[in-house]
Amino acid sequence: MNSKTERTDVVIVGAGFTGLSAALELKRAGIDFLVLEARDRAGGRVEATRNGLGERIDSGAQFLCEDMPELMALARERGKTFVKTNVDGDFVTHPPMPVERAVRTYHAAMAMRERMNRIEPDDPAIAGLSVADWLERQRDSRDAKAAFRSMIEGLWCLALDKVPLWHLIDNDRRITNEVPELQYSLRETMQSLADDLADDLGEQLRLNDPVTRIEHGHEGVRVSTINGTVEARAVLVALPPATAAKLDFEPALPAALAKALGVWESGAVVKILVRYARPFWREQGLSGMVMWRDLPGLFACDASKDAEHAALTVFVGGPRALHWRELGETALRAEVTARLVDALGPDAADMLDFNQRDWTHDRWSGGAYGDLIVDVTATDAERTILAGAPPVHFAASELSPSFPGYVEGAIVAGRGAARKLATELKSATANRAPRP
Ligand SMILES: Cc1cc2nc3c(=O)[nH]c(=O)nc-3n(C[C@H](O)[C@H](O)[C@H](O)COP(=O)(O)OP(=O)(O)OC[C@H]3O[C@@H](n4cnc5c(N)ncnc54)[C@H](O)[C@@H]3O)c2cc1C
Repeated sequence: MNSKTERTDVVIVGAGFTGLSAALELKRAGIDFLVLEARDRAGGRVEATRNGLGERIDSGAQFLCEDMPELMALARERGKTFVKTNVDGDFVTHPPMPVERAVRTYHAAMAMRERMNRIEPDDPAIAGLSVADWLERQRDSRDAKAAFRSMIEGLWCLALDKVPLWHLIDNDRRITNEVPELQYSLRETMQSLADDLADDLGEQLRLNDPVTRIEHGHEGVRVSTINGTVEARAVLVALPPATAAKLDFEPALPAALAKALGVWESGAVVKILVRYARPFWREQGLSGMVMWRDLPGLFACDASKDAEHAALTVFVGGPRALHWRELGETALRAEVTARLVDALGPDAADMLDFNQRDWTHDRWSGGAYGDLIVDVTATDAERTILAGAPPVHFAASELSPSFPGYVEGAIVAGRGAARKLATELKSATANRAPRP
C-alpha cells in the first residue's frame, strides 16, 4: 500500500543518461525535482559488472568518439581516462575472402548506406517500404548486400523486414560521426560516469523505486511507485518508448499519443566480453575486428584496456540474438567460441574469461541499443511523443535530434527536454504571479 505523499516541481521517471542529464539541467535552472529509478543503480543501458577475474567491465554501452561532443566533454570534465580502441591491422570478414575483396565489400556496403541516406524520408516512392524491401531492389553484388545486412542488423538489432525504410534513413541521418563510433572506451567504465552524475543528485535520486502509475490533470501529476506517491507540476518520462508504453496512465493518454508510443519495438542484443592473456590477433597482423557475412548481426572488435588486459567485445544482435539466446548460456558460449576460432584461429578458444549479458526483453530498458518504429505508417510518432500531453512529457535517446540510440543522444535529449520544461514552468509561474 502507498505509504507517503511528497511534493516537488518535476518527477523524472528513469535514471538512464536521459533522466540523469535532465535532472542536472533542472538543477542548474533552479527547479525542484525527484528522479525515480526502478533498478538498484543509475545508468540504465549503461551498466558495469564484474567479470570472473574481478575486473569491472561495461556490460552495456561502452564506446564513444570525438564526434559525440556532449559525451566527450562530460567524460573529460569528470576526469575519465580514454582508452583508444585498437584498429591497427586487417579486419576479418568471414567466410574468409582476400583482404582486397574484403575492403572492396566493406566500401560497397558503406556506399549502399550513403545511397540509402540520400533518399528523402518523406519521398512518396518509398512509402510503405521496409529496409528489406529496399535491399532486395538494389543491384549491388551479393557480397555487398550481405555486408550491408550484417552491418544494419548489427547496429539496429531488428530484422530488416520490420524496419520502415523512412525511419532508418531519418534515424541514421542523425548519427553524424565521421570517426568510428568505437574510437574510445573509458578505463573507469562508462558506468562510472553515470555513478558520478548520480552522486551529484544525492537524495533527489531514488533507487529501487519503480513507477507504476501516473495520474495527470490540469493541476499537475500524481506519480505512484511501490514506495509511495509524489505530486508534482509535471512529469518527464525518461524511458525508451516501448518501455514508456507499458506505464499505467490515468486518464489514458490521448489516443494519438498512446498509438505513437505503441509503434516502437525493442530489438535484441547479447553483449559478450572475452578476456585473453594476450592480444594474439595483433601478432597475426589483425585488428581483432570481425564481420560475419554468413551470420548477420554478429560482430567482434578489440576491447583491450592495454596489452595486459587483452579483450574482444562480441555483439550478437537482431534475429541472431533471438535465435542463439534460446540455446542457453553454455551453448551460446560454445557457438561464439567456435565462430571466433573460425575467424581468428585456435588461440581464440584459450579464454581467461567469458562474460555475456543478454539484454533481450530487459524489463526496464527493452532489448537493444535503442527501440525502433516498426509501423511503416507511423511517420508522426516521434513528433507526437515529443509534444507529449502536458503535464506529461517524454524524452529518451531514441527521440534525440542527434545520435538517437546512443549515450550522446540520451544526454542531448535529456538536457533539451529539461530546458523546455524549465522554460514552461517558469513562464507558468510568472503568469500566475499576482499583478502589482
Ligand atoms: C549492450 C548495449 C551496448 C551499447 N553500446 C553503446 C555504446 O557503445 N555507445 C553508446 O553511445 N551507446 C550504446 N548503447 C546505447 C545506450 O546505452 C543507450 O542509447 C542509452 O544509454 C539510453 O539512455 P536512456 O536514458 O535514454 O535510456 P535507459 O538507459 O534505458 O534508461 C531508462 C531508465 O529508466 C528506468 N526505468 C524503466 N522503467 C521504469 C519505471 N517504471 N520506473 C522507474 N524507472 C524505470 C530503467 O531502469 C533505466 O535506468 C548500448 C546499449 C546496449 C544495451
